[in-house]
Amino acid sequence: MPRIARQSIDQVQAAADLVEIVGHYTRLKKSGANYMGCCPFHEEKTPSFSVNPGEKLYYCFGCGEGGNLFSFVQRKENLDFAQAVEHLADKYGIALEYEETSAQGEAERRRRDRLRALLERATAHYERRLWDDRAGAAARAYLDERGLGADVCRRFRVGYALPGWERLRDAARRQGFTEQELLDAGLVVTGRRGGVYDRFRDRIVFPLADDRGRTLGFGARTLTDEKPKYLNSPETALYHKSEALFGLHNAKAAAGRDDRVYVVEGYTDVLALVQAGIENVVASMGTALTEQQLKRLGRLSRELYLCFDADAAGVGAMSRALNLARRLGLSLHVVRMPEGLDPADYVLSGAGAQGFRELAAHSETLLQFHVRLALESNDLARPDGRAQAFAQLKGVLAEAATPIERDEELRTIADRLHLSEESVRYLLSASSGAGGARSPAPAGSAAARAAGPAGAAVGGVHELEVRFLAGCLALPDKGRDVLGGLDEGVFASAETKAACRWVKARLTSADAGKNEDSVDCAPDAADGVSGVVAEVVLRSGRERFTVAVVDELFLRLQEAQVSRLIARLKAAAGTDETGTREAKLAELERVRRRLREAVRSLPVVDDSIEGQGPGT
Ligand SMILES: [Zn+2]
Repeated sequence: MPRIARQSIDQVQAAADLVEIVGHYTRLKKSGANYMGCCPFHEEKTPSFSVNPGEKLYYCFGCGEGGNLFSFVQRKENLDFAQAVEHLADKYGIALEYEETSAQGEAERRRRDRLRALLERATAHYERRLWDDRAGAAARAYLDERGLGADVCRRFRVGYALPGWERLRDAARRQGFTEQELLDAGLVVTGRRGGVYDRFRDRIVFPLADDRGRTLGFGARTLTDEKPKYLNSPETALYHKSEALFGLHNAKAAAGRDDRVYVVEGYTDVLALVQAGIENVVASMGTALTEQQLKRLGRLSRELYLCFDADAAGVGAMSRALNLARRLGLSLHVVRMPEGLDPADYVLSGAGAQGFRELAAHSETLLQFHVRLALESNDLARPDGRAQAFAQLKGVLAEAATPIERDEELRTIADRLHLSEESVRYLLSASSGAGGARSPAPAGSAAARAAGPAGAAVGGVHELEVRFLAGCLALPDKGRDVLGGLDEGVFASAETKAACRWVKARLTSADAGKNEDSVDCAPDAADGVSGVVAEVVLRSGRERFTVAVVDELFLRLQEAQVSRLIARLKAAAGTDETGTREAKLAELERVRRRLREAVRSLPVVDDSIEGQGPGT
């Protein structure tokens, strides 16, 4: 794909009206320099979603969703950055220009086009073999036995690879494709005596497509006893196993409508559910969801419903997924399938879409799932069983997203063990278990989310840094003064560092619309940085800042930085023969004491700072 030219992106940015765009999803009312309305990303009755029309940024004080023009369209329309630009260009009548590609880039593009064409031919070839070839009878019978009708199989372009060694190879050659291209597409393998032969033989093939439905590779199930049962395309220029999701393009629209996506394990689970009328389903082809898969799923919906067999292996995979999902701001739910049934068996056994939706309605959050597991897998009648359960629970609860969520689970545990909540709290703090003493994220999990990977740990610091930057923006003279010689090291995260550069650029450049540091169009910045910038901009218009407040925030920021340095130094391993570490520590402690005294000696500000909490 050629890149959209920078000047075209700027044109779209200039022409588009964020208030109008947001207005399609929620009613906005003017409020000072900004617009307010109920959040289009979470359920609420009182408006906490604000839009800054000039900067074209939005931020929700309730759920923490924030970003720019492009990220808004990406989120609401399930598009990637380039698609969002194209969508807006279309809407505002701007003809996009694309960057001229180098000769090498051009050759690479042609090569990929050829591979795509070859994979398309292969898909059609396998389809014909399944439906029109007498040899495809066994494959058709297999699908039929599984209760999968021809309609749904045709929709997903299921096919069949004949038992021979060179059927596809010869067909592709006749169409002008080379052996090298067949190898590059992962359709053939090299034989021992040179030469190539078909990779997939006597197998049902499921095309693995991108989000536009273009085939990138195949997953193939054997019809005989041949091992492995499932054989997939190898890594190629187009197909990457860690990103693959079966059914992605089909699920897109329905996932947006339903605001959820079901994740199942197998191809036939997807086919059975779609046949039953549930469209927003994809298969991960394994229980261990990768980061890339979660990111792609997150573009469909932030609510992921995992319908895996909850065996022991599944549990380990799920807790890894939990941590990844938390970082990405996704919420995971576990749909418990009845013992021994996969989703395909379940809907085909007569439960249908209705039965499946009911199961999903009783899904648990991943946290609830883990709490239940810890309680059920230990013998709570025995002291050692209880100790074990508490050790597990402590680790599990450390993962809780919010204190509210944690308190709810504390009540469940207390009920289950016939103990008071206080006792449970005490026992959890006393038990030694995995998880350690991680402090939970503050109630504004939005802040934790926006803070990125270290979100849970630095929630408070993130809050402080954002307010400081908002104060600098609100009081330009003071802001320029403080930010002038500021070392970025006072900020803990890459996102707030970038937001600081943005604020600095805004404060120093007279021509605000044109500066290189502007992050509003950087595609990669769409998620993290533009969200933090939006938070800063919209906070600066909401809180009443005074010079004294900014001074105090600045001191606290420095104190937080010194505390980080002290912690890092203390944690540093190794011997300290020269005593330099001790000396450094002592110096830092002195600095921190001075900063704390400075904060204490600040004049008391009488107008209280408002708007600190999320949601009003
Ligand atoms: Zn919201």
